[in-house]
Amino acid sequence: MAMYEETLPNREEVLFNVNFLREEFKERLKYEPAAVDLDLDGIVKALGGEITSGGIDDQAQLEKVGDKEFKIILSNKYPQFNRNFTIAHELGHLLMDWGYLKGDYDWVCINPSAIMCLPQEGRSVDQNIASESAANFFAFEVVMPNDLFKTVVEKYTESGKFKFDKIADYFKCSVSLVLRRGKDLNIWEVA
Ligand SMILES: [Zn+2]
Repeated sequence: MAMYEETLPNREEVLFNVNFLREEFKERLKYEPAAVDLDLDGIVKALGGEITSGGIDDQAQLEKVGDKEFKIILSNKYPQFNRNFTIAHELGHLLMDWGYLKGDYDWVCINPSAIMCLPQEGRSVDQNIASESAANFFAFEVVMPNDLFKTVVEKYTESGKFKFDKIADYFKCSVSLVLRRGKDLNIWEVA
């Protein structure tokens, strides 16, 4: 139990970084990001990144290729429908684990999605798991923001039944991600 508690993300830190990303959308791309038309490719480019395909099966990787320049590598086998969520997850690592915001861009992370981040000095394995759950929480907040998610769920609820496939279509992601998000927000118990 103690270990589980240690792996919970720091919500405040995550939300601070989500806000940073929203501000970057406004400043650099001149638009208010909405979950339905999130231009994640555009924001990645504006932040100095590039999205490529290849890499390890079913994994996404974040690579530093220069000072404030990075690459997000998506596996060709990665489900296309979760593309936005995956890119957002990697952006979460970039902002929260790579010190992109703070400018302390001094460590190398080879494969965050597989919890294979090279440990920083004094960084424990448990903290790496915490960084994964923080990156997931970040991605959920970016791709399925709390208020919008609840509105969409309401729209696609008929006679007390949730239309999970419709909600997933709306957010261009898998039903299993929708189930997790709804459970985290205490909308339903299944996940
Ligand atoms: Zn990750």
